[in-house]
Amino acid sequence: MVTTHYPKQHCLYCNVAFDAASEVWEEGKRPKPDDATICIACGGLMIFTEGLGVRKPTEEERKQLERDVKVQHAQMALAHTKGWKRQ
Ligand SMILES: [Zn+2]
Repeated sequence: MVTTHYPKQHCLYCNVAFDAASEVWEEGKRPKPDDATICIACGGLMIFTEGLGVRKPTEEERKQLERDVKVQHAQMALAHTKGWKRQ
């Protein structure tokens, strides 16, 4: 697993600070603009921007991401790790 470090920023949902991202599906891949990322603290979906900042996904992007089985698996794994319950 490759971890990419970048300047510290904050989750747009829970405000937790983060400064790195790890690819969990494609070995060796590093984030690039328009790639999705999931906050490890709250599970919030964000999109990388130029310079590896983040923005919230548009409504259409959010719907597409929520239908993506890789995103669903990542969120389930995170929920399992955090002990979150399904609603
Ligand atoms: Zn968060």
